Amino acid sequence: MKLKSLILLLIIALLAACTPNEPGTPPHQDPPPVEDPGKEPDPEPEPEPDFDFGLYQPNELGEIPIWMYHNINEPEAIWVRTPENFRADLQRFYDLGYRLVSLTDVITNNIRIPAGTSPIVLTFDDGNANNFNLLKVEDEIVVDPDCAVGIILDFAQSHPDMGTAATFFVHLPHPFSQSAPWYTAEQRQWKLEKLQEWGMEIGNHTLNHKHLKKNIKSLEQLQEQLGKPQKLLEDLLPGYKLNSLALPYGGRPKAEWAEYLHQGEYQGTHYQHDVVLLVGSTPAKPFNHVDYSPQAMPRVRASNFPDGNAKDFLDAALTRLEKTRYISDGDPDIITIPESSLPKLNQDSLGEKTLRTYNLEPTE
Ligand SMILES: [Zn+2]
Repeated sequence: MKLKSLILLLIIALLAACTPNEPGTPPHQDPPPVEDPGKEPDPEPEPEPDFDFGLYQPNELGEIPIWMYHNINEPEAIWVRTPENFRADLQRFYDLGYRLVSLTDVITNNIRIPAGTSPIVLTFDDGNANNFNLLKVEDEIVVDPDCAVGIILDFAQSHPDMGTAATFFVHLPHPFSQSAPWYTAEQRQWKLEKLQEWGMEIGNHTLNHKHLKKNIKSLEQLQEQLGKPQKLLEDLLPGYKLNSLALPYGGRPKAEWAEYLHQGEYQGTHYQHDVVLLVGSTPAKPFNHVDYSPQAMPRVRASNFPDGNAKDFLDAALTRLEKTRYISDGDPDIITIPESSLPKLNQDSLGEKTLRTYNLEPTE
């Protein structure tokens, strides 16, 4: 009897254990964690543990070369790069780890290239036909494979990660001074639309290439030179804003008109240049650098043609950049710099971006 009672008790105990909870009875679980309102906020997320600072050595305060080209043509001269040399430039840039970014990406602090690579900007002044030329082959109209646009597109075919960004500083309303009996407003429009599709930009180079110091006699004249191109472009591409200006001959207007270089109005059309480019020989400082100067941004002539003066601009800049170049961390939301560069950081420029510094131990 005693054994039977024990078995019965055991069965009752087992049944009780299997019975679901009564309604209203909390399940036997640990209570959910309660947020302590006074508790410290979560710390900033730690850098990705697998980011290899030693491998990439990011330096997002490093210099960015803004290469200045004019003609792509034969033969090589001060303001002419041959198609063959321009192709070789792209290959050289690529092999050195440079990738194309747009001028707008530089001035909006939106550089999106892989970790360990460096940004460059291509610019072309004067809107020569050899910058973007069309050919009629039998009945088909094609991009000239030897013009700047044709070479950039062709290079990107075999090196897709190079990108196709470039800025063309043109004169409007004829952005590329192509003349052929079959070349009409329709082809001109096609060019303007294709440029946008390929991530290429149009910049202001004044109405008709005036030296803004020597050739401008009045404020009205200055605003016509700078504002009329915007007005003419809006007729072709409604809504397109020319956000950059390349100064012909590097000439700036007299000091009292300086502000009109950046913005002004012509016949009811407002113009605004977020970046003004110079003619020069040094790479530019990036957005977060204390010496970032969007209203006087230096460019480097992309050529080694001896002009009787300084020469080897391209080689000299690339040599300098071996030590000074911007190296991306691959994440546009994070600005990564070596700790030693902190004094060169403009803290106020960071905005929503996270700053990350690092210090590599010297290796034996
Ligand atoms: Zn020019």
